[in-house]
Amino acid sequence: MDKTNITIIGAGVCGLATSYLVSKEQKDILVVEKNDAFGRETSSRNSEVIHAGIYYPPDSLKAETCIRGKALLYQLCKENNITHKQLGKILVAIDDEEFEKIKEIKNNAEKNGIKNLRFLDNGELKSLEPNINAKEALLCPDTGIIDSHQLMKFFQDESKKKNVEFAYNIEVVEIKQEESGYTVTVKEPEGELFSFQTKYIINAAGFDSDKVAQMVGIDIKKNNYKIHYSKGQYFRISNPKKFVINHLIYPPPSKTDLGIHITPDLAGGLRLGPDAHYVAEVDYQINEKDKGTFQKSVSRFLKNLKEENLTPDTVGIRAKLQAPGEDFRDFVINEESDKGLKGFINILGIESPGLTACLAIAEKVKKLL
Ligand SMILES: Cc1cc2nc3c(=O)[nH]c(=O)nc-3n(C[C@H](O)[C@H](O)[C@H](O)COP(=O)(O)OP(=O)(O)OC[C@H]3O[C@@H](n4cnc5c(N)ncnc54)[C@H](O)[C@@H]3O)c2cc1C
Repeated sequence: MDKTNITIIGAGVCGLATSYLVSKEQKDILVVEKNDAFGRETSSRNSEVIHAGIYYPPDSLKAETCIRGKALLYQLCKENNITHKQLGKILVAIDDEEFEKIKEIKNNAEKNGIKNLRFLDNGELKSLEPNINAKEALLCPDTGIIDSHQLMKFFQDESKKKNVEFAYNIEVVEIKQEESGYTVTVKEPEGELFSFQTKYIINAAGFDSDKVAQMVGIDIKKNNYKIHYSKGQYFRISNPKKFVINHLIYPPPSKTDLGIHITPDLAGGLRLGPDAHYVAEVDYQINEKDKGTFQKSVSRFLKNLKEENLTPDTVGIRAKLQAPGEDFRDFVINEESDKGLKGFINILGIESPGLTACLAIAEKVKKLL
């Protein structure tokens, strides 16, 4: 192919959701992905939680796309038999300080229009979660879990039915603006370079999206587009039957992450994590020495959890616009005409709740085209 109308860079959940929605109306779409299949990076290395939208500041894109995305995702799952479960989540506070924090979360959720959160009394908590210890507990019924692989496969397969082309094992290495669009140069697996023209580019390159933005000449420092990597590790409970857990169990969040939580998965397993550490490079190695920190953190509210109950699981990398020490940063979903780059759409900083928000992000991109 030497010409295409729309090029989507990245076959993570955001690129795929965009291809799915946009291909319902537009033709001639190409998805370019450097790995040999979809969802090999962050989109398959996360908690697979459908978030309710309770944490994010009112009027932020994170709040808006999470709440809209949650509704769209539940509907899509129901209509297309994508495996999911609306388990509900319980936020636990083990002392007065944490109780203040979960009260603030309830207030924030209400500002975001989510009014179904309620505190559980001790008896209720005991009957819902006999293995959990907490001074106070807040139930959030909207939260669920989803099979993210099935979701991404659905997006890819539906896109293919609309003749979207998927170029796997192909890495975008250069982008040049032309009079009526862009010339994209890609590297094939054997190292050969190949160029084609495109009118629109959607940059959905996850934690590499700042590098793709740089390729077209965007000054990422000046525009505050630099992506910082935050590594999140998971450990798995090796004998989950011993620790029956029926909901997602979360401590209060910190300024940069949601705290090490307990996530039941769809196969009946239990995962703990993710933790959060800024790192200079992408690295998917788990540090077994952190097992102790996980045990300490979660045994505050999960009775009888011992280090020997934990085995290393996966690692994911958050694509954060928020630099270490910085305050909240929102998603960026922007058509870059104001930078002289007509038809170039950046979606940047899509950390959590990006999986939940994927369809709402895609809707926004569709409007920008
Ligand atoms: C530890 C962790 C836990 C999380 N938990 C949740 C959760 O429970 N719920 C939730 O809603 N969200 C969660 N998230 C966030 C969610 O996983 C992400 O927001 C989402 O997966 C981002 O998808 P993406 O498509 O933007 O990026 P990615 O999935 O990273 O996809 C980007 C793709 O672009 C490709 N690419 C990059 N550069 C190039 C190039 N030059 N040429 C070609 N291809 C390229 C990459 O190979 C990759 O496949 C979590 C994230 C992490 C890290």
